[in-house]
Amino acid sequence: MLNLDFHPTGRHFLQIPGPSPVPDRILRAMSLPTIDHRGPEFGALGRELLEKIKQVFKTEHPVVIYPASGTGAWEAALANTLSPNDRVLMFETGHFATLWEKMARRLQLEPEFLGLPGYEGWRQGVQADLIEKRLKEDGEHAIKAVCVVHNETSTGVTSDIAAVRRAIDAANHPALLIVDTISGLASADYRHDEWGVDVTVSGSQKGLMLPPGISFNALSPKAIEASRQAMLPKSFWAWDEILEANKNGYWPYTPSTNLLYGLNEALDMLLEEGMEHVFERHARWGAGVRAAVEAWGLEVQCQDPALYSPVLTGVVVPEGVDADVVRKIIYERFDLSLGMGLGKAKGKMFRIGHLGDCNDLTLIATLGGCEAGLKLAGVTLKSSGVSAALEYFADHPHRFAQAESTQ
Ligand SMILES: *Cc1c(COP(=O)(O)O)cnc(C)c1O
Repeated sequence: MLNLDFHPTGRHFLQIPGPSPVPDRILRAMSLPTIDHRGPEFGALGRELLEKIKQVFKTEHPVVIYPASGTGAWEAALANTLSPNDRVLMFETGHFATLWEKMARRLQLEPEFLGLPGYEGWRQGVQADLIEKRLKEDGEHAIKAVCVVHNETSTGVTSDIAAVRRAIDAANHPALLIVDTISGLASADYRHDEWGVDVTVSGSQKGLMLPPGISFNALSPKAIEASRQAMLPKSFWAWDEILEANKNGYWPYTPSTNLLYGLNEALDMLLEEGMEHVFERHARWGAGVRAAVEAWGLEVQCQDPALYSPVLTGVVVPEGVDADVVRKIIYERFDLSLGMGLGKAKGKMFRIGHLGDCNDLTLIATLGGCEAGLKLAGVTLKSSGVSAALEYFADHPHRFAQAESTQ
């Protein structure tokens, strides 16, 4: 029940890996009056943002926007490109990959779920060599799509999407490549066209810094071609009518007008900063947070340094400690929300989001809450993570900030 006696001051620390904090500039843009979604003003907005969003996906092809959470865009990607009983190859990187596989079964697809065994398997990324091997065995091309998660939000492990593309090409296999970067987009480098992705799925409430409620499918010409033959039932999700209406900046139904104001503002913010700056900023935050975890003497969930997520860090708690108890203490004592361990990682770890509208000192405060909470939960820490992160941030000025301060 809502505790009405509790009146926190200042701002709640929303350090879960999505929804991420929404910048004031976006909140203000969203507070404007809702307009006629068939009027000329709306059409101009639609045309503008449908062009701008391509730069974030790094694509020249259409991006479809749905008034739905990321899960809706997952379904749209499958329903538009596939037919009942189609075989799809998916890879178990963590909880979100597992939910997507369950969705594929519920849609009457036949997913094959590759993966490394057990909880330890959730500490690694997609193994492109296993995908290549399986596709080479599939001489009849029964597999119609390969579906992978770019930034596995349940673990803080990214995957090498270009390597998955190479694996499909090395097997000379025509399967579509469908990628979930719901939590990676606009925080981790992503290249829809260059990596040969056919459908990229994303959402609003992570790197794009918006509230939840809109989601995306970036398409390739091959995906659009596949959608003309695909037989899974689809109506609301169908790309054809949306693409047609989008030509003039409109939608076939009522779009989320105010979220689109927010999206337009978010795109301006990201493109003004420059995507390379955005990626650099997130990578640096990730490194600072990992320096704290190392100083505490704890383990990061991700075991491959090449795959550390710039979006979030999974912190593994010592054996015998319940990570959910640590999180509860931190929430109640310090008004700080952290991500819980999901699925196979439940109770073993918690997740610190370091994405979007953060800065060095919000992360230092976040690490302060974590450090105090871990101690209150009885965890013995090797040294201060807060000091280590502060030192990291002080010693590693933002590469671009450095260049600008000398001007
Ligand atoms: C958040 C997330 C989802 C689910 O998106 P919703 O907006 O909650 O429907 C799926 N995949 C990944 C990787 C996510 O981070």
